[in-house]
Amino acid sequence: MKPLNELTRPNIWALKPYSSARDEYSGKEASVFLDANENPYNTPNNRYPDPLQRELKALIAPAKGVRTGQIFLGNGSDEAIDLVYRCFTCPGKDNVVAIDPTYGMYQVCADINDVEYRPVRLDERFQLSAERLLAAGDERTKVIWICSPNNPTGNLMDRQEVLQVLREFQGIVVIDEAYSDFSSERPFRLELDEHPNLIVLNTFSKAWGCAAIRLGMAFASEAIIGILNKVKYPYNVNRLTQEAAIGQLEQQHEVRQWVTTLLEERERLAGEFARLPLCRTVFPTDANFFLARVTDATAIYRYLVDAGIIVRNRTNVTLCQDCLRVTIGTRPENDALLEALRKWNPEPPLNN
Ligand code: PMP
Repeated sequence: MKPLNELTRPNIWALKPYSSARDEYSGKEASVFLDANENPYNTPNNRYPDPLQRELKALIAPAKGVRTGQIFLGNGSDEAIDLVYRCFTCPGKDNVVAIDPTYGMYQVCADINDVEYRPVRLDERFQLSAERLLAAGDERTKVIWICSPNNPTGNLMDRQEVLQVLREFQGIVVIDEAYSDFSSERPFRLELDEHPNLIVLNTFSKAWGCAAIRLGMAFASEAIIGILNKVKYPYNVNRLTQEAAIGQLEQQHEVRQWVTTLLEERERLAGEFARLPLCRTVFPTDANFFLARVTDATAIYRYLVDAGIIVRNRTNVTLCQDCLRVTIGTRPENDALLEALRKWNPEPPLNN
């Protein structure tokens, strides 16, 4: 890996971050707070939240098997994705490489930041090739984006290929593990100490059932986390979000139960879906959704919308022609989908 000061955008490396009242004083003993121009009334919403979310990180660290200093928290993983560009790439000069297809925000944030985005097509099994990813880069490639289990394909990336990228790439490797709670594979976040160039993304939006509170996590070396923290807004995670996440972390058994139920439902729904006449293939999945190739994705998507059932039409995505992405819902929701699809009756072709 190149030294961090070479990988970091020069003005960010030199940046002296804003120091808030809560940065300068954080002690539990004081009882009179006249330092932050807050209103003394309307407890607890009158007070600024902890800018470094220490209480929350102390609960996340053991739950995720990382140290508190290896955690960045943001307004969804999307904040961390954008921060990676703002911290490690120079607009108009640097580029990033990513697997294709994958989660759309890596490209959107590249475009917003005016950073060249180089997609590298997965093979027909939706697997990446380390050699092809590495060959797509040059001396101005700062970041490689990998998502595993991948969205929208659902599959895990081949571990040996990912390890080769981690070993050989000189810049930052981001592995988005938003869906890793649904997989039995060892997550890469447990190997941070072996890979100083690794950033792992996680989120409260999937297995943790908290998409509405907007809480994303990035795990990386203390040095990388320090750079992300310098650039984030001082109070980027509000008090209500921190409190809701602490509440959910105290109910981890509930999360485990949801995952077990969803994995059982995934097995059942994918099996039943594969037996539908309109289904060509259900692709293997390690996430809380599956991708399926069907006879006519757009017509079936529209038919389902009319029936009040929304899936994701991925037909225009690389390698995903005529594919629908189906999230695993509750048993009645999954049954409603199957029932509607069993009634699907495509227009017979005109005989002329
Ligand atoms: N990463 C992946 C791979 C995703 O699929 C999604 C959401 N669909 C996210 C990140 C975004 O997560 P968040 O809600 O934390 O912004």
